[in-house]
Amino acid sequence: MNLFDLRIGLGFDLHRLEPGRKCILAGVTLPHPTGPAGHSDGDAVLHALCDALAGAADLDDIGTLFPDDDAVHRGQDSAEFVQRMMAEVRRQGLAVVNTDIVIATEGPRIAPHRAAMRARLGELLGVDASRVNIKGKSLEGLGALADGAGVAVQVVCLLAPQACA
Ligand code: MG
Repeated sequence: MNLFDLRIGLGFDLHRLEPGRKCILAGVTLPHPTGPAGHSDGDAVLHALCDALAGAADLDDIGTLFPDDDAVHRGQDSAEFVQRMMAEVRRQGLAVVNTDIVIATEGPRIAPHRAAMRARLGELLGVDASRVNIKGKSLEGLGALADGAGVAVQVVCLLAPQACA
């Protein structure tokens, strides 16, 4: 394999947590009184993952491909965004090697749901859950995020030619 065929992408997303919203992160519904606001289901993890895939595969970002002023995407399951990104990744002959994710929030606790999140993302990306790492991170009492007002997500994702899998 030529190392220059490896592609890395970085994604970031930030959503407010609001009362009455379902708390869906990484495709998993968490038992929490607030959830990420948004035009779609607000799943900040899947949105950041989409942008990491877009970065690695040289695609338009999620906001351009799936605009939040398009009524079609209202309340949409963000898994569909990932599936559409992955279709393009595969069309380019690429496959996911691994992804690493940090979820920074003092809203819902992440640790009890890590296994379910890793399994769901593995399904969406076509890889074993061992290639999807997720870490919850607290905010050490600093700023609005630390008041439980939001969730911020960073995702890095590595792609390689399918022939290498
Ligand atoms: Mg978003």
